[in-house]
Amino acid sequence: MPTPASAPQSSPVLHSRPVAYAVRADFFRPSPVRAVFDISMREGMISLAGGNPDLGVLPLDELGAVAGRLIAEHGLEVLQYGTGAGLEPLREAVCEVMSTAGIRAVPGDILITSGSQMGLELVTSLLCDPGDVVLVEAPTYVGAIGTFQGLEADIVHVACDDDGLIPAELERTIAEVRAQGRTIKLLYTIPNFNNPSGITLHPDRRPVVAELCRNAGIALVEDDPYGLLDFWDTPLQAIRSFDESVIYLGSMSKIFSPGIRIGWVLAPRDVRDRLQLAAEATTICPSVLSQHLANIYLREFDWRGYMNRAIDRYHERAQRLDAALAAHLPESVRWTRPHGGFFVWLTLPEGLSAEALLPRGIEEGVVFVPGTAFFGDGSGDGNLRLSFSLESPDRIEEGVRRLARVVTAALEI
Ligand code: PMP
Repeated sequence: MPTPASAPQSSPVLHSRPVAYAVRADFFRPSPVRAVFDISMREGMISLAGGNPDLGVLPLDELGAVAGRLIAEHGLEVLQYGTGAGLEPLREAVCEVMSTAGIRAVPGDILITSGSQMGLELVTSLLCDPGDVVLVEAPTYVGAIGTFQGLEADIVHVACDDDGLIPAELERTIAEVRAQGRTIKLLYTIPNFNNPSGITLHPDRRPVVAELCRNAGIALVEDDPYGLLDFWDTPLQAIRSFDESVIYLGSMSKIFSPGIRIGWVLAPRDVRDRLQLAAEATTICPSVLSQHLANIYLREFDWRGYMNRAIDRYHERAQRLDAALAAHLPESVRWTRPHGGFFVWLTLPEGLSAEALLPRGIEEGVVFVPGTAFFGDGSGDGNLRLSFSLESPDRIEEGVRRLARVVTAALEI
């Protein structure tokens, strides 16, 4: 919305008095991904940093017509407050979405949220007291780290390999943390095409991880925004598909749009009911207009067709990224080869620091996210995350050439 020329840009400060912040105010930190967002927008910059979906496949005219009709013909409903649980037809539709991952659920098990980030916040605030331990993959989603730290939970990473969480390491970590007298409340996992590593938890490990959590009395939170974005079209069975005690987070952000801010939580009924109370205290209800749009998108549009077109683009870009890394980077650099999602995780040669490389990368015209963003304990500086979701294949290749110049120069110092 343009600002009228005569309007003041900010209001004059009449009285200024110090604000007495809560202790927890210091726990909310700027996201390292958002920190490079402005840099990504600079002229000529190639961004391998953000995790934005490619919305270029969406039928914008048809969606615009639907949104217009919703307001013109049903405005008194869709512009009104709604229920805390979320629209029943949308809850039905997301049950259908989850059935691809083998999940059987009914609308009464679902809470619609304003994005799955909100779901994670609600679950954490419901389960974790300050100082409680949250187990996470090494590395894990930067936004989850922000949520856990903001709610004063202690993050403990569990080692992973190319098949995801290592069950023996999970078992060892549980024992070790308990021996320190600390309480573990939940395991947070992104089993499919992990953000940032791109790694997928091996199907054989899924029941083992679930059983370890069950036996230890630890809630398992399965965050699955990328599961359907599989280049090989082999639907991955969610952990929730064989363990109904799992708290499952779903999202419309990667299969439709992040801007509509619609996600959901599937949880055992007592947990779901409490989550709804917490949600109502936060947002009263999710956006009714967004929910109607999401519901119509899932029911009346060929959403899987649009998603498949986007997946084809992601696949082509991932292949180009992989080939470019192999062609241009020194042999001592390693990286993951995901078959879905948005991200590749790169391991630098011994002694190089991703945080030190970032300013040099920016000078060369390429941005990435240093690995430290994805650890709660400051580690990860020998890694970086590259995203292939949005830049064109040619720009990805050029971005890798720029990155290679920076890495090679650092190795020569
Ligand atoms: N979990 C993971 C693993 C993510 O990568 C993201 C978004 N980047 C989210 C949750 C948040 O998604 P939403 O837009 O649904 O809040």
